[in-house]
Amino acid sequence: MPDTGAYLDHAASTPLCAEASDAMVPMHRELYANPTGAHRMARDTRRRIDDARDVMAEALGAAPGEIVFTSGGTEGDNLAVAGRHLAAGGVAVCSAVEHHAVLAPVEHLGGRVVAVHASGVIDMDALAAALDDEVTVVSVMLANNETGMVQPLEQVAEAARSRAPRAVLHTDAVQAFAWLDVASQAACADLVSVSAHKFGGPKGTGALAVREGVALSPLLLGGGQERGLRSGTHNAAGIVGMAAAAEVVLKSRAKQVVRLAELRDRLADGLLGAVEGAVETGERSGKVAGSAHLCFEGVESEALLFLLEDAGVYASAASSCASGAQDPSHVLAAMGYDRGLAGGSLRLSLGYQTEAADIDRALAVIPGAVARLRAYGTG
Ligand code: PLP
Repeated sequence: MPDTGAYLDHAASTPLCAEASDAMVPMHRELYANPTGAHRMARDTRRRIDDARDVMAEALGAAPGEIVFTSGGTEGDNLAVAGRHLAAGGVAVCSAVEHHAVLAPVEHLGGRVVAVHASGVIDMDALAAALDDEVTVVSVMLANNETGMVQPLEQVAEAARSRAPRAVLHTDAVQAFAWLDVASQAACADLVSVSAHKFGGPKGTGALAVREGVALSPLLLGGGQERGLRSGTHNAAGIVGMAAAAEVVLKSRAKQVVRLAELRDRLADGLLGAVEGAVETGERSGKVAGSAHLCFEGVESEALLFLLEDAGVYASAASSCASGAQDPSHVLAAMGYDRGLAGGSLRLSLGYQTEAADIDRALAVIPGAVARLRAYGTG
């Protein structure tokens, strides 16, 4: 076996699990008909999509008729925020640490962005001040993609109910699904988005749960698929692959969380012990199990990632823009980190295929790489 290194970037994307891959191949080779067609192969394809809808409904705590298949987290988030705005007008509200798939549409629509505490958790007083009769959608993520911090969604729902009677609650559960029981933890949300490639499914596939009665307008118009909310020929293989991966998560999540939290703790504690001045962002107990996020003063993330890659450790900085260049993280800025510390951030994200050897390798490599960069003065 070639050495594939220690892949600690599961928050960016996960490998396709065997179950998803096995479920997808026949969809490409045998059941390739357009599922909206009238003949037998089309009906068979449609049946597989309906089965997948049942699985995703169970996974998200929704009814099958409330699931809208999308092209991933970005589309689901945009459909929730902009689709709600199209249907109901008014004002959109989100937290300052949302993924850009939420933040950008909220800002584009002239919405309100709510501050977070230094922990990364939403400031409930600031949220209360942003809520009123004009607000039609509140979007607060379940778990953050950079720090792994989990938001108090029930409290957010309660605030929205009491202060913004026209508002529906959307939660971006893209980074939560592999770790948290989204069906129960997002039960208070009206709109819930997930993305398959963050939990062992294929890229370019996702789902948005839209609770019955929520007024939402489509962003894509055309053939009227997905109850008119998402036109376009179904990505049948992707949908079936996502459902297969979701079934694996539902069966294995509780065990994986325990196993991976132990490995994550060993990794984070090991780095805090071995690297002088290392800072862990946010309270670990408030994070999803697979997330370790640290900042190293006197180091540039980009240079660190380069050294790590050279030593076979694959990770991320807090944030990167589409060009590949490192942007200062809006999440760390919102948490009050100055550029010096935020510029040396490192996100190590574990996933279902992470083993102890990956952690050993990261622990063997990262302290030396930080020391080397500090000695060269690259910070
Ligand atoms: N929301 C969060 C929290 C994410 O982490 C991501 C991906 O990194 C997205 C949305 C976008 O999902 P996708 O890559 O499926 O468009």
